[in-house]
Amino acid sequence: MEVRGGGLRAGGESGYRGRLAPSPTGLLHQGHARTFWIAHQRARERGGVVVLRNDDLDSGRCRPEFVRAMIEDLRWLGVTWEEGPDVGGPHAPYDQSGRMACYREAFGRLREMGCLYPCRCSRQDVRRAASAPHPEDDEPIYPGTCRDLKEPPPGRSCSWRFRVEAGARVAFEDGACGAQAFLEGRDFGDFVVWRPDGVPAYHLACVVDDALMGITEVVRGQDLLRSTARQILLFRALGWREPCWYHCPLVTDEHGHRLAKRHDALSLRTLRERGTVAAALRCGWTEG
Ligand code: GLU
Repeated sequence: MEVRGGGLRAGGESGYRGRLAPSPTGLLHQGHARTFWIAHQRARERGGVVVLRNDDLDSGRCRPEFVRAMIEDLRWLGVTWEEGPDVGGPHAPYDQSGRMACYREAFGRLREMGCLYPCRCSRQDVRRAASAPHPEDDEPIYPGTCRDLKEPPPGRSCSWRFRVEAGARVAFEDGACGAQAFLEGRDFGDFVVWRPDGVPAYHLACVVDDALMGITEVVRGQDLLRSTARQILLFRALGWREPCWYHCPLVTDEHGHRLAKRHDALSLRTLRERGTVAAALRCGWTEG
């Protein structure tokens, strides 16, 4: 398999390749919609290509009706894409559930390089052992309980963690938020790349796809800034060039809480059924 980092493949006149990566675990809300609209606009302004990727690895939460709904709702919003699960393209499949071979290969390489170790801890164990409080939307810092484990425990499923060097600092320039720096031990610790149920964790699947699909800029919400720091470590470990980053401010409700699917945030579907005009919704969404 040919593996190239962001920016090297042809994509539009400029070589810009952006992506939209919704998870079909519910209906899209206005927060997603604005991020996707900004991603779409950034690609269009640069004569680039938009890739729609279906992040459907979480089989317990993803549902085919939400895949159909996200495609319909994005089209209603006026978002278009050149590559995706419904239109195909040179990097098909665009459903993460169909890309396990790519994830396994990257996992195998990381394991061979000694970047990973098996971990028996459950999420609850980690939460209980974490000494520092962590932001609500991020995982607690792993206390290192299984760091010296060499082999997975026999007869027990385990996860696999990426070993972050003590004191590692990840710095990057963000297109929307400016200079960013994150520290091991303060902002993140060793993180899971492979789950006990045999599925790659978000960080690994996302990095593999962004690299193999030649994505040159990742546009996502600001809640994922620390995730980006972890993903940069994976890009580097795998020898792939990292894309540019653009983290959009989050949409909040009248109480200042950010919108989330689990909070029944007003979905695009509801707005549409109530007769909202997409152009009116988009009006007022400006970059940054
Ligand atoms: N599927 C992920 C989500 O919806 C993608 C996030 C990203 O990498 O942009 O949160």
